Amino acid sequence: ATKKIFNFSAGPCVLPQEVLKQAQAEMLDWRGSGVSVMEMSHRSKEFIEIAETAERDFRELMDLPKTGYQVFFFQGGASMQFSAIPYNLLGGEKKFGQYLTTGAWSESAIKEAKKISSPVEIWPTSGGKFNTVAPSADWQISKEAAYFHYCDNETIHGVEFPQEFPFDLVPEGQPLICDMSSNFCSRPVSWDKYGVVYAGAQKNVGPAGVCISVIRDDLIGTHMRKDTPLLFDWKQFRDAPTKMHNTPACYPIYVAGLNLAYMKRIGGLPHLEAEAKRKSSLLYDFIDASSEYYSNPVDVKYRSRMNIPFRVKKDDKLEAKFLKEAQEHGLIELKGHRSVGGCRASIYNAMPYEGVEALVNFMKKFRDENQ
Ligand code: PMP
Repeated sequence: ATKKIFNFSAGPCVLPQEVLKQAQAEMLDWRGSGVSVMEMSHRSKEFIEIAETAERDFRELMDLPKTGYQVFFFQGGASMQFSAIPYNLLGGEKKFGQYLTTGAWSESAIKEAKKISSPVEIWPTSGGKFNTVAPSADWQISKEAAYFHYCDNETIHGVEFPQEFPFDLVPEGQPLICDMSSNFCSRPVSWDKYGVVYAGAQKNVGPAGVCISVIRDDLIGTHMRKDTPLLFDWKQFRDAPTKMHNTPACYPIYVAGLNLAYMKRIGGLPHLEAEAKRKSSLLYDFIDASSEYYSNPVDVKYRSRMNIPFRVKKDDKLEAKFLKEAQEHGLIELKGHRSVGGCRASIYNAMPYEGVEALVNFMKKFRDENQ
């Protein structure tokens, strides 16, 4: 038997065993077709069925309205959408977007927009600390912007918006754009509030290589810059047969599809949301109860249910020992992002509750042995 491992990677990351086993069982011969999904033409009826089923399961899982939105399986990750967004939305009369920067990823998004435009920052005084979000009264909101962009869950800093974003602060008619890469499919989305929602799949949904983008019909091809590169061009994809302008990441789409069906089977968003709460509370409660030893820097209201950064006595040396011993206990990938240091536990949908229990038990033991 393989050693029991709990993988706390921020992504790519843990996937459900059942999904991996199904992929394994179907690897050489997809459902009697005689070929592997990896060997199929993306124009074959088999692959089109796979992609259409994945989209259907996604729409059902996420309760996306039947009309009004296109679902795309893009390549290029969430990062490519950082670029695609200003290209697709700044070709009209409005020439800049506004960005709420609450961590490293929303900073990356505005950085891309700066290459071709002059975006404005909604919270220009964040100071780059990113352990809370300014009270919305302090947001500097532009009515003239072409769109309003934010990141729902900052993977590196562990800052997540509560369920209800203050939607009423978004100027009327201005499309709200959200990077949901690292908390996608972990709670319901109020679709009627959004123009674009996009997420790299390699956290809650599937393997790396595909970015799921949900784009409102009226934003496709209507405000596009003329110099939009082909692969950023949402209209080009919408108008292509089965929305595949070029070869998509076929195998990742297939595995994501298996996982979307699996997430529906186990109880959908109500189940996943409850589990996310239960798992993250277990870890936060423990950290807070041992605050002389472990600490999480994020304002309680904005603590992420998915990515939990923490320090061990704020001591680099002790953290190195912690990470090494955790690994020996089968608790892997707990190192914090290189830009912030410390430790981080990513506890995505596929992380079982027992994984978080094992982590908490190890943290207790480590604390007792290293006073
Ligand atoms: N946004 C967020 C919130 C992320 O966590 C990441 C990746 N960790 C990205 C964007 C970039 O995604 P990709 O690597 O798919 O381009």
